[in-house]
Amino acid sequence: MLLGAHVSTAGGCCNAPGRAEEIGATAIQIFTKQPNRWAEVEVGEEDAATFRDGIASRAIGYTNAHDSYLINLATADPVLRDRSLEAFKGELRRAERLGLDALVTHPGNATDGDMARGLAQNAALIEQALEEVPGSTMVLLETTAGAGRVLGSTFEELAEIIDRISPLQRHRVGVCLDTCHVYSAGYDLREDYDGVIARLADTVGLDRLRLLHLNDSKCAFGSKKDRHEAIGEGTLGDEPFRRIMTDERLAPLPKVLETPKGDDHAAADRANLARLRSFLS
Ligand SMILES: [Zn+2]
Ligand SMILES: [Zn+2]
Repeated sequence: MLLGAHVSTAGGCCNAPGRAEEIGATAIQIFTKQPNRWAEVEVGEEDAATFRDGIASRAIGYTNAHDSYLINLATADPVLRDRSLEAFKGELRRAERLGLDALVTHPGNATDGDMARGLAQNAALIEQALEEVPGSTMVLLETTAGAGRVLGSTFEELAEIIDRISPLQRHRVGVCLDTCHVYSAGYDLREDYDGVIARLADTVGLDRLRLLHLNDSKCAFGSKKDRHEAIGEGTLGDEPFRRIMTDERLAPLPKVLETPKGDDHAAADRANLARLRSFLS
């Protein structure tokens, strides 16, 4: 089973595999640079090689990066758009160099309120980035909680972005479902788990679902708010996670935590992973 957490790359990407081992992860997510800064960084060949060797030697079966929070491929501001595209291509280049399976991205914010334009622009820029950075790393559009003019809070919007991307690049595009985000966006994983999965299958298609972010939520159903909580301790509670962990359709998918880590990161991650594993028996 591919199960793990977001782990720190403090001190270099090469340190992530050891941190994965500490928590018994077989799948990890990382940031390849500080997510709240524009400054671009290169991942050096030595750092990348040590990272790749560390992943291979620890039987970690899935790796992905999450892109910078500043990137907005749906913005109406041309300066921010160009800056976002350059930063996104940098994210993809680093992911390719590290040999990551995927790069997770939020579909962005239609700052002018024109959601149709935002969706079309997001698709066009992802397509352009994939053309200009060839390779095997997939781009995964993450479901969002949907505050304000944020795109990607409905499965239909994610399906539309994917449909707009040229078939030449579309095979490199999929979806990451975040349990906290979809619950806040109004998909009731608690009371209607099967219905939510059916709606996903009918829109995006389960073949396009490639990664799960397993997070409980501090916020109410439909609140549009994005605040993660430890598994079973939030408004979602244990049951949706029990369903996910035992759902055969989702069994092959990597499942990664982004839950609060407190003072002892490894201890918090280990506790959350143990809780998830307890649902298997
Ligand atoms: Zn997430
Ligand atoms: Zn979140």
